[in-house]
Amino acid sequence: MNETRAKATAPGRVKEITSLSNPLVKDIKALALKKYRERDNAYMAEGLKLVIDGLDAGWTIRFFIFAKAGNGNPAVEKAAARTVAAGGTVLEVSEKVLSAITRRENPQMVVGVFEQRYRPLKDIRPAPGDVYVALDRVRDPGNLGTIIRTADAVGAKGVILVGDCTDPFAIEAVRATMGSLFAVPLTETDEEEFLAWRKGFKGLVVGTHLKGSVDYRTVDYSKGPVLLMMGNEQKGLPDSLAEACDKLVRIPQAGKADSLNLAVATGVMLYEIRRSAFPLTGEN
Ligand code: SAM
Repeated sequence: MNETRAKATAPGRVKEITSLSNPLVKDIKALALKKYRERDNAYMAEGLKLVIDGLDAGWTIRFFIFAKAGNGNPAVEKAAARTVAAGGTVLEVSEKVLSAITRRENPQMVVGVFEQRYRPLKDIRPAPGDVYVALDRVRDPGNLGTIIRTADAVGAKGVILVGDCTDPFAIEAVRATMGSLFAVPLTETDEEEFLAWRKGFKGLVVGTHLKGSVDYRTVDYSKGPVLLMMGNEQKGLPDSLAEACDKLVRIPQAGKADSLNLAVATGVMLYEIRRSAFPLTGEN
């Protein structure tokens, strides 16, 4: 939110808004665009489950926005109370306002506005058994959100965005994470800084490449932390990043497809790397 305006709105107050021209509504609606998300260091998360996930994970909430229909709903009222307790502001709005904010005809009953959060590259401390995913210029918000969700599912310790990536705080990316955005630390960096950091990475650096010389199932991922590098949807990994890998692996394919979708390839790799974390229970 615009700093001045956010301060002018006393935290903790509950406001009722029905007008589309309300300045707060305009500011929140603007979060659909990256330049305003960056200006305000904020983003939207839609739906009660996502907002509760964010609150549970300790992310800073600025606004809890709910449709009048949510009045009397105990879960909505509890989340509103948690927002107030955390110093945020609760906005009760008309359906029309909620539709405008989310740009959807049938919006969710609840939207949260949270502060963005990145972990600096220098703060990553890889330990044995850890897995990190580095994405080179990922462009598709759905792919990025799906990868964050999958990284969460396998217990990866972070996702590193290298170069000009799509915004993880875009509403489509946030939706695709299904709440995992709050669980997986994100880091953004450029290629130069990443390559310098990689030099100090004491573990296995595995890149995926259509021309990889090694079948991904033949690698021993159990030694030390693993850094998995995935290439851009159109261009794959550039030579500069491929050369920084200890191994370049390929996932075998049959049929006519040139390659796998980036998020699918990342999922295949992450489950192989984390295979030992999910031992068979013998129940099947
Ligand atoms: N035309 C691109 C190329 O030549 O690399 C295709 C990129 S693919 C859609 C996106 C990324 O997914 C690749 O850079 C790689 O990281 C991963 N990928 C997809 N299929 C793969 C496969 N069969 N083996 C290894 N990596 C794969």
